[in-house]
Amino acid sequence: MFSRLLVANRGEIALRIIRACRELGVRSVAVYSEADARSPHVREADEAVCIGPPPSKDSYLLGDRLIEVARATGAEAVHPGYGFLSERAWFARAVRDAGLVWVGPPAEAIEAMGSKTAARQLAIGAGVPVVPGTTDGLRDAAEAAGIAERFGYPVLLKAAAGGGGKGMRVVRQPGELAAALAAARREAQNAFGDDSVYVEKYIEGPRHVEIQVLFDHHGTGLAIGERECSVQRRHQKMIEEAPSVAVSPELRRRMGETAVAAGRAAGYANAGTCEFLLDRDGRFYFLEMNTRIQVEHPVTECVTGLDLVQWQLRIAAGERLPFADGTVFEPRGWAIECRITAEDPANGFLPSTGRITHLHLPAGPGVRWDGGIEAGGEVTLFYDPMLAKLVVHAPTRPLAIARMHRALSELVIEGVETSREFHLRVMEHPDFRAGDISIQWLEQRLPELAAPPVPVRVEQLAAVAAALLAQRDRTAPAQRAGADASPAAGRAAPRDAAADAWRLAGRREGLRSS
Ligand code: ADP
Repeated sequence: MFSRLLVANRGEIALRIIRACRELGVRSVAVYSEADARSPHVREADEAVCIGPPPSKDSYLLGDRLIEVARATGAEAVHPGYGFLSERAWFARAVRDAGLVWVGPPAEAIEAMGSKTAARQLAIGAGVPVVPGTTDGLRDAAEAAGIAERFGYPVLLKAAAGGGGKGMRVVRQPGELAAALAAARREAQNAFGDDSVYVEKYIEGPRHVEIQVLFDHHGTGLAIGERECSVQRRHQKMIEEAPSVAVSPELRRRMGETAVAAGRAAGYANAGTCEFLLDRDGRFYFLEMNTRIQVEHPVTECVTGLDLVQWQLRIAAGERLPFADGTVFEPRGWAIECRITAEDPANGFLPSTGRITHLHLPAGPGVRWDGGIEAGGEVTLFYDPMLAKLVVHAPTRPLAIARMHRALSELVIEGVETSREFHLRVMEHPDFRAGDISIQWLEQRLPELAAPPVPVRVEQLAAVAAALLAQRDRTAPAQRAGADASPAAGRAAPRDAAADAWRLAGRREGLRSS
């Protein structure tokens, strides 16, 4: 194992990697921008180096600077996390050329899977089913129209270099095509510096189901089970779970084998994810392979007992996976993850900034908090609005939903708007509880799920409690004794409500003084 590792990331994933390092006895070196000087990942690492001003392009995206820091601190390996430089083949190559170990797949595999069109070609070659569509960039709108005619509307225009749902446009009729193509190209050019766009058939009402894979450097490839990530807004995941209600052991085996075949075709090593669309008839189509650890990896860790980040390090250090090649894992229990973001669902998910004034974290059985924030910390517009991931694990899906609801109810974040209450409403929704969801579900239900709750302020609750207690004190002692001896339901209820209100107010006061 390495003695020292550079964590080329920030926030919750940096902390996640630092924790894995500590358990493996590896010293961690954090990097940070000036905006993150007081972040938990900086404090928790064994060493930390400031790499520049707040904008990512001047700090976390400076590959040369990161390699310089790795060298200067004596780090032997670099873990890129997700986002930033994690899927940049040139960076993986530069790390390798500097004599350091890249904790991820070979640069060649990142390249092979980096363009959606190239990945589709590779998948087709490996016998992996892909969404019907093209494997080359479009020349112009006329060509797009011809292809759309052939596959039938609706079609989806997608950026070849795409990621994060950017450069994607659904086209429902021929008249919309030219404008949609121009918009997709523009967005792709801005986001990726590459305006290449291709066409896929738009699948109606599928689920997003992905398979986690792990490959070592000794020829063993494993399918670590599926995650369902159908709760999406604007093609971005908000809630993930493992396993999926729509996946039988037989389908799991087929999807698992397919994912391992796709990885093998790309010469894969380390952790990766094959994303699929699963249609209503149980047919699945390869979308893309993410060549890095994913945000939602903890749900897989919960139901398999594997520490995926530790395995990333162990594989990079040359260790063998202690399982037979081609093993497809079966899940134990059910896990759900909610992405807690600094966004205001009641205002079109507008990013929210400011200082976190209070933070109370959920705990108790089966609750995991992967966060990168603390009270006093500043949420800025420089980085992704995801503050943390709340993850629960329970024996069954209904119990996991109840546990997530309980954990979300315990969570208090003050100072910025967050997605907490939105997640509570999803957990309460009959469709979600029935597992009756697709990738379009959230967008269709957004008005009711994003609705602001009826505001009840603690001060109001406290006033009600005070009134109830005052009334109780006014009643004759004899009467009270009688009531206490044989509490009628109607009498007992207000006392409980008053106690609850005081308890809640007390908790908040306690938080204020902390
Ligand atoms: P990105 O890399 O930008 O995240 P993906 O190819 O992974 O793009 O797709 C993101 C999401 O967009 C998917 O999870 C799915 O919800 C939706 N999507 C992608 N392709 C299709 C398709 N052909 N039909 C319907 N929905 C799609």
